[in-house]
Amino acid sequence: MCRHLAYVGDETTLRALVVDPPGGLYEQSWRPRHQRHGTVNADGFGVGWYVDGDPVPARYRRAVPIWADPSFADVARVTRTRVLLAAVRSATAGTAAGEEAAAPYRDGTWLFSHNGTLDAWPDGLGPLAADLPPEDLLRLEARCDSALLWALIRRRLADGEPAGAAVAAVVERVAAHTAGRFNVLLTDGETVTATAYGDTLFVAERPDGVRVASEPSDDGDWRPVPDRTLVTADRKAVRFRPLGNGPGRPP
Ligand code: GLN
Repeated sequence: MCRHLAYVGDETTLRALVVDPPGGLYEQSWRPRHQRHGTVNADGFGVGWYVDGDPVPARYRRAVPIWADPSFADVARVTRTRVLLAAVRSATAGTAAGEEAAAPYRDGTWLFSHNGTLDAWPDGLGPLAADLPPEDLLRLEARCDSALLWALIRRRLADGEPAGAAVAAVVERVAAHTAGRFNVLLTDGETVTATAYGDTLFVAERPDGVRVASEPSDDGDWRPVPDRTLVTADRKAVRFRPLGNGPGRPP
């Protein structure tokens, strides 16, 4: 399982968010501590971030391990943002290996990451793919289970559905169709929508901003998110809502 991280808060550097925190995303690429599936996250990485005055996020993705790209750490030192989504990848067997399959995926102002698998990939996912018009299938960003999951969510966003409703509906529909793990991160540069569904997720609310991540770094008070929860976070608040038959769901 990959590891991913979203941040919304005061302006800071990519390096301060991704590289510097002890036990943070950078280190999680070779030494994750909460990872139950897979061992290292060396099949590429990606960072997407927003700069003031431009709603379309920049992306930097590579097919190599994050530690094998020293130029990233250097550029990250002087690149500033208020909202970021980043991931280090442990590729699911049978999916594309290149940069195009490294999260975050992007469409317009949106950034998306999936930590998990759709176990029925590829042969058993035809009924889900049938939810999509052919042009959406032609625009799949990569030959990857996560790209299909993203396409299903993107279709609902394009139809005007709010992010939380779109993510909840797709995750519940996909979970009804295939076994797997469906932890996602989605942002439009203002709000972060996330799910805990089959893998770990943690939230840190600090004076400088909110972090949502697969696992905590060593530098702050993170709290675990219960499994099967939808998280909505912005600069002001973090909200939890049970998903599917998650704990706390009213009967
Ligand atoms: N299935 C996704 C991929 O192959 C995510 C994998 C993961 O979370 N390890 O990239």
